Order: sequence, then structure tokens, then C-alpha cells
Amino acid sequence: MSAGFQRKNLCVAFAGFHIESVSFLPAFATLADFERGALRGTDIVESLRGTNTVIGGFIDVLEQNTIDMLPIVHAALGAVGPASDEAVHHYATEIAAGVRDNCDRLDGVLLFLHGACWAPSYSDPERYILREVRAALGPDKPLMVAFDYHGNVDAATLENVDAAFAYRKSPHTDTGHTGERAANCMVRTLNGEIKPVWAIAKPGVLVPSIFSATALAPLADIIAAAADLEQSRPDIIDVTVMAGFSYADAHNTGFSVLAVANANQTSAQAVADEVSSSIWAERHALYRPTPVYEVSEAIDHVMKQIAITPPTGKPYILLEHADRMNDSTYILAALLDRGVQSASVPFLWDPAAAAKALDAGAGSTVELSLGGHSSEKAGPVLKVNARILWVGKKEFRISGSYMHGMPVDLGVTAVLDVNGISISVVSYPAFGVDGDPFYLFGQRPEDFNIIVLRSKTHFRDFYEPVAQEILIVDTPDYGPANLLQLPYVHLDTASVYPFFEGDKQQR
Ligand SMILES: [Zn+2]
Repeated sequence: MSAGFQRKNLCVAFAGFHIESVSFLPAFATLADFERGALRGTDIVESLRGTNTVIGGFIDVLEQNTIDMLPIVHAALGAVGPASDEAVHHYATEIAAGVRDNCDRLDGVLLFLHGACWAPSYSDPERYILREVRAALGPDKPLMVAFDYHGNVDAATLENVDAAFAYRKSPHTDTGHTGERAANCMVRTLNGEIKPVWAIAKPGVLVPSIFSATALAPLADIIAAAADLEQSRPDIIDVTVMAGFSYADAHNTGFSVLAVANANQTSAQAVADEVSSSIWAERHALYRPTPVYEVSEAIDHVMKQIAITPPTGKPYILLEHADRMNDSTYILAALLDRGVQSASVPFLWDPAAAAKALDAGAGSTVELSLGGHSSEKAGPVLKVNARILWVGKKEFRISGSYMHGMPVDLGVTAVLDVNGISISVVSYPAFGVDGDPFYLFGQRPEDFNIIVLRSKTHFRDFYEPVAQEILIVDTPDYGPANLLQLPYVHLDTASVYPFFEGDKQQR
């Protein structure tokens, strides 16, 4: 409690709604799917304080500045299919109601949204949510938003915000920092230090997610140049390059550059345009900076290398990156077919197989139909005899740098041995991006010659130092490296690279 004169603390509401939608996938993320991990009120603060998450960053800054917090709701899924209309409507309504009901005591609102949500009846769900919240908040109080680096946004998405930010790194190791950037802008605005204005530029470029890793050249150089512009111009508060998410088919899919300036919109636009021009200029190299392997080609390469140089505790990583649901089986089928041993396939999503393993119990051998269920593109359903090494419910907090400290519920989980290949089967989709899929079960990544991962960029922070080699393997699933294969309907492909090759005016 403050002594002396009485001054009401400032009060900021916050909320989060997060999903990265592969719009081509047939299964929808329902309200029930979101609700399984949804948090409300003070539970949000208790669960996410001190975590490397956007909301964790909001909380840090607001608490440091003795600003009262009104946490409304936090509902987050990862990279899955479209959201149901019901889910989008529900959370937009709930967040707006939380703001409206407390409007008199609120000074501002911070939101955490992904930017690549897709739902059948909402052409831009994030725009819709921001519009609902603005209507509840009124026209004058600041509304600021932090997006994922893979969000697809345009000027219309941002029409109701005072400032917008996004992660600058992929792997997203700066999620907490992104929340801090947005919250600090809010605090400085409420203190009257700055008057933020924003600009956006879209170069009209798409890249496969695998090549949105921010350490890859030339993307790393473009991001460094954006940081230099932010540092060198006193009126620029923040610049973010957003790669967008090419597997969400929307009118605004693709790269964006956000700039936030202090009162000078012309300056913000100039910076955004400059960075956007460099993305267009480098479009070819951004789209294909490193080689992509076919399944048999990748396994041939690895087996040859292992034969020449016996493994030294540094596994080869085969990246089945086109898999968006963690259940595709193209590489596993080929490994089994060729009798490869000492391989690990962590976090394969298959609730039915996990349930059957639970019924059978640890130590038994059971026939399972494994993987390949999420769509017709997820690869063959594999009939295997699996020895069950461990089975049970599994929850944990992330130990790696990406989303450090976040709670994860895998549901019923089974660790299987199938002809010398270790497979962990989970009931809720989860990405293997660090050592957790091994440590949870008394294993270590270095125990295996080959590890099959499905992450796009987040695995790099942990696995680049420990891997012998990382091979990007393209499979015919819904997140391919070749974007020309995808059946876009909403995106105007005539105006964006790689569909449109030639010179054109920047949009
Ligand atoms: Zn992302």
C-alpha cells in the first residue's frame, strides 16, 4: 500500500487467444479443445507469472510498475487446424464482456493474439476480436496487441489498435520479451511519455514455415537491418518483421513489417516500407535458403554417414516438417521398412493407440494401428507390434528455452519399442522441440542415432548444438516446403511470391 496522498493505481486488462490454423486441415479446433487448457482471472497470473510467455511478460511489467491487473481469459492452442466459428465468437465475446464490465476502472487493454487464426465465417478473426474489444473499451483508451511472428496481418487487422508487436525470433525464445515490449509501450503511453502510432507494409512474399527460422540468411540480415533502423531513429519505438503463416489461406497471408513510432506516422511508414522492400528483393533466397530432402534420400544419407562414422552421441535429426498434427508416418514407415534401429519418434499424436496401450499395461506387447489419422495426407496408418515400456498420464512444465515454464498436458502417454525404434505416443498434440520428450521418460537425445522431429523452427535452439546434422525432409502433408502445391482459395496468389515472380509495386 502506498503511503501519503491517495492516488488510484492504473489498471490494465489483458487476455490471450492463440491458435495457428492450417486452414487446409479437415479437423476443427473446437471450443472444448480451447477450454481444456483455458485459464481465467487470477489463475492466469498464478500459472503464467515468471514464464517465458507473452502473458508472463505482461505480468512482469505491470507488476513492476504497480499497475493493477484485470486478467480476463487465456485460451491457447498451437499449430492445428481451423478454429470453429463458435470458439472465435466465444472468446471475442468473453474478452469484450470482461472489458465492458470493468470499463470505468480500466486505463488500457493488452491482448495476446496469434495472427494466423482461421475460421470459416471470419475472414480475419484477430481483426474481429480487436474490433469487439475496441467497441467495449471505447475510442480513447489504449489497446495494444502482441502477435506471434507467424501471424498474418494487414492494416485492417490493426485498425483498432494503438500499437502492435510480434516475436522477433523463431525459435520463439523471445515470447516473454515481446509481452514486455507491448506492456512497456502501454506503461509509457499511460504515463504520457509517448503517443504511439503504427504503420505496416506487406512485401507480398510467402515462405514455408521451415524457412522462417530467424537465424537463416538472408532473413537474419533483414531482421538485423530492421533492428538498426529502430536503434538509429529516435522517433521509432519498435520494428518487427513478421514472417506470416503460409498454411493459413487468408487474404493477408505472408510477410508483414510492423513499425511503431512516437507520434510520427510518416516515419513509421518509411521504416516499414524500407524493410518490406528488402524482403521483396531477397524473395528467392528467403523461399529456399537450404536443401530439402525426400524421405528415402534423407535416410540413405544418414545410414551412409552412420556406416562411415560410428555415432558419437550426436543424433541425426530428420525433420518431418510438413506434418502439422504430429501424427504423420512417412519417415517412421520408411525406418521400419528398412529395419533401422536406434531411432526415436517422440510425441506421436495418437490418443487411440495410447488408450490401447494403457489397457494392455506396461511390459506387455500389443498390436497397434499407429499414426496417420489426422487427414488423408498424414501417411499410412502403421500396423505394428509394440512393446510397452511405460504408460500413464503425463503432465510437465517445459524445461527448454522455448516457452520455458509453461505447463503441458500430454494426457495418456505410452513409450513404445517397435523393432528397436522408441516411440512416445501422446493423447494431446505436443511438439518435441527440446530434451523434454526424452527426459520425461529417463531417456536422453544422445542415446539415439536418429530422431524424427516435426517442429518447424523451435527445435533449433536445443537441437542445433546437439545434432550431428539436421535434414529437412519434405513429405506430402499439409505443410510442405513447396507452397505451389497448396490449394489456396482466399489468398490472391496472382499478387504474391512464389506464385507471382516478377517485378511489381509494393502493396
Ligand atoms: Zn510462430
